[in-house]
Amino acid sequence: MTTTQFEAVPAVAGDETRPPTGLVVMKFGGTSVAGPERLQAVARRLVAAREGGRRVVGVLSAMGSTTDELFALARSVSPAPDPRELDMLVSTGERISCALCAMAIIDLGHAAVSLTGSQAGIVTDTAHGKAKIVEVRARRIHEALDRDAIVLVAGFQGVSTEYEVTTLGRGASDTTAVALAAALAADECEIYTDVEGVYTADPRLVPRARKLHAVSYDEMLEMAASGAKVLALRSVELARNHGVRLHVRSTFVDADGTWVTEEDQRMLEKAMISGVTHTLEETLYRVEGVPAARLFSALAAAQVNVDTILQTGPEIVFSAPVTDRQAAVEVLEGLDARWSATDELGKVSVVGAGMKSHPGVAATTFATLDAAGIEPQIVTTSPIKIACHVAREDVDRAVQVLHEAFGLSSEAAERAHA
Ligand code: ADP
Ligand code: ASP
Ligand code: MG
Repeated sequence: MTTTQFEAVPAVAGDETRPPTGLVVMKFGGTSVAGPERLQAVARRLVAAREGGRRVVGVLSAMGSTTDELFALARSVSPAPDPRELDMLVSTGERISCALCAMAIIDLGHAAVSLTGSQAGIVTDTAHGKAKIVEVRARRIHEALDRDAIVLVAGFQGVSTEYEVTTLGRGASDTTAVALAAALAADECEIYTDVEGVYTADPRLVPRARKLHAVSYDEMLEMAASGAKVLALRSVELARNHGVRLHVRSTFVDADGTWVTEEDQRMLEKAMISGVTHTLEETLYRVEGVPAARLFSALAAAQVNVDTILQTGPEIVFSAPVTDRQAAVEVLEGLDARWSATDELGKVSVVGAGMKSHPGVAATTFATLDAAGIEPQIVTTSPIKIACHVAREDVDRAVQVLHEAFGLSSEAAERAHA
């Protein structure tokens, strides 16, 4: 199997002096295309952008929970589905929404064409289920745009260097959109979703969470990596590496959303903390009796995405996504190590570029959790993040108390990002 460590999409300068190309990539998530009326509304929105004089590439997700249903269907037939066939199956959801949307656009009197990831020239490595984009061969998209058509590209998928259909991982229509925005030198990449932007915490868990007007790529990377699933992690990596301007906004409300851009001095000075994120979808492993070098090279070879790593004496502790559990367990069994795994912990993270210049964030985090009777089991940090593994049942409460403690529900928190 060939895998790549990086995504080689042609660079577009993040350079402010680059003349506008008049091209926009507009991505719509699953809720945004969940039924016929919603697809028609998306069609109208794409047409409005075209009529406004822009060249338009739409990237769509599968309708509603189609992808979940396809995964469940596969498992009802086969307990461990063959990876190639699974990709053939789950990639169909996006094809449905794009074809339907193209029909709706044609009915509105505009030219439109839907393309699978493969037809759109999204070339990936061969890692089924988590393929990385290695190249975008956008010839067909350019041809269609030159004919004045609105182009609809099926998100979440590509074609491998071995000519197989691949998928890019859950939530990866975002990644498709950003890769296309980079390859086509789009003026911006708009991510339309079911919330109005990136919030100081998941608005479903913290109703008083505030919409952020702007966050830096680095903050967004940390937030996406620690559970803010509003943007797929790899899409943010690509946007940062290629200087793609990202605008996360609502499909249903016509308001400005959140800009994800280069960090500027204001972000550093005004806002100490941008958000509190959380995840329950992590497994924590404790391993003894195998050297770290051997363990982590075996995990890497098996494509396990290791996150937190801690080594104290002979014991190594690491975390990885729940979706990588089977692969991780196979590695551990193959290494003849002593190990255990638990899904009983979740992780809450406090993220903010301002941490670099404001001391005391760690003190406030610990004092707040302590006052709430929550004991962090593992704590890890980066220059702009403090992450605490806590008992799963405490995660929601930990997010809420930290959100209050850092004053994120206040108007001032929102203004700090304006
Ligand atoms: P889509 O289907 O449009 O891709 P997702 O479900 O992938 O949408 O992402 C949007 C969801 O992300 C929101 O409904 C929200 O519950 C969740 N979310 C988690 N953290 C955040 C956050 N910090 N800001 C905004 N949304 C968040
Ligand atoms: N439909 C895919 C998923 O549910 C990709 C996406 O929505 O971004 O993961
Ligand atoms: Mg998503």
